[in-house]
Amino acid sequence: MRRKLVVGNWKMHGSRAANAQLLAGLKEAGPWNADVAVCVPFPYIAETALALTGSAIAYGAQDCSAHEQGAYTGEVSSAMLSDIGCRYVIVGHSERRSYHAESDQLVADKAKAALAHGVTPIVCVGETRAEREAGQTESVVKRQLAAVIHTLGHCCGEMVVAYEPVWAIGTGLTATPAQAQAVHAVLRAQLHAATDRSGVMRILYGGSVKADNAAELFAQADIDGGLIGGASLKAGGFSAICRAA
Ligand code: 13P
Repeated sequence: MRRKLVVGNWKMHGSRAANAQLLAGLKEAGPWNADVAVCVPFPYIAETALALTGSAIAYGAQDCSAHEQGAYTGEVSSAMLSDIGCRYVIVGHSERRSYHAESDQLVADKAKAALAHGVTPIVCVGETRAEREAGQTESVVKRQLAAVIHTLGHCCGEMVVAYEPVWAIGTGLTATPAQAQAVHAVLRAQLHAATDRSGVMRILYGGSVKADNAAELFAQADIDGGLIGGASLKAGGFSAICRAA
């Protein structure tokens, strides 16, 4: 009923030569029985758009400004992302929350700006290892999601949510399918109380997803695909994850 979505988050990786090779490999490997997208560094969006012409693979960015336009040196607006054909933008990734001190409210404002320009925000939530060990997983992800639901109002049904436990990102430690499903169910219930679209909204899992653990994660009732970091940088590995979806 919900078509799976697999998104590659390249983070700060790539070069013109490496990207061309990766995108050509993906075009050759697809199509898959899932929606697939790559979120690439800003300087490479235009070339990615060209490389993906005629392909079903969508593309997007890894962040956007909460502002419309103006004197915000170094920022990129969602209108610009829309202008260049981005379907998605990741907001609130834990690396931005922690290295750039992004608050729940700023993340919500970014999601709102994206939706206003027809770019689907992929809103990341997730607890740190200390928060999990303190039994705060549920309260943390609910607090992060509540800010977005409150700010988007009835439009919240248009976003994609990604659960990314911070302790599983880039560590090789994956949440077990049961651990991930438990949090996804909490998030789905919270969305259910806010929008009648909760049943069709996609909630992605991210955190050390690889070709060999993807199928088991994606088989869980409330896991609708993945947000893939390291494993999205090789066409073979990413394509195997897309096949598992
Ligand atoms: P890894 O897949 O490298 O653990 O990264 C996950 C992530 O942060 C995707 O946004």
